[in-house]
Amino acid sequence: MSTNTTSSEGARRHALILSGGTEEARRAEALRLAAEALCLAEAGDRPCGRCTACRKLYGGGHVDVLFLLTPPEDKKGMPVELVRRLRGEMYVRPNEGRHKIAVVNADILNPQGQNALLSVLEDPPHYAMFLLLTQNAAVLLPTVRSRCALRRLPPTEANAEAETSPEVEAVLAALRADDEWAILCACLALEKLGREALSGALDELAAGVFREIPGADVLTARRYGDIIVQIRRLQSALDFNVHPGHLCGALAVLVVSK
Ligand SMILES: [Zn+2]
Repeated sequence: MSTNTTSSEGARRHALILSGGTEEARRAEALRLAAEALCLAEAGDRPCGRCTACRKLYGGGHVDVLFLLTPPEDKKGMPVELVRRLRGEMYVRPNEGRHKIAVVNADILNPQGQNALLSVLEDPPHYAMFLLLTQNAAVLLPTVRSRCALRRLPPTEANAEAETSPEVEAVLAALRADDEWAILCACLALEKLGREALSGALDELAAGVFREIPGADVLTARRYGDIIVQIRRLQSALDFNVHPGHLCGALAVLVVSK
């Protein structure tokens, strides 16, 4: 993903605002950054997608990554007590990894909630890493912005958020139905998209699978996490001139065997 980082004065590496793009793109990028930070592989190979840290993270179960993404069901915004609780947890050293990471949907924080984060952003423990996701960084409090580096995700077409192509939707439907034969056929049918469109389709697929995770049971969520990791690995194979047909075949086998 091509991104554009601008560091304002006072910005530090421990806190990053991810702005723009779609909500899914922001969450996926946050997950990738968290995986990169916690991955156990050699520096050049992170995130590897295979180590226990990557697997736990993509499966939604890494103890050192805290999410504050959606308000409780009966609330419109994030109650400030939950932000304070997150802040408190950030002062507890990581259990397993080098970092403790908070992924926060800043769009659901009111000024009080943002202020609750401010003290830990100003004086964070050395292991802490904050990823604040927002549609538009300009609406955040200036005091919060000044404590964070800003990374803008590439803009997306107006309809990109709502639209999933029918080919990708077919794979997702087959996956939901847990129908191996349908998964196989739907994955192989992606070949006809051709090399150029295939990378975008794999993005859509990864985002679609990611959307399924919150509603899934633990085992299925872990399986979906594994599938996303494999999709990302296959995407990098596209850079090496792999035939789209072979790639779709590999995708089919990987998704079915997960
Ligand atoms: Zn890893």
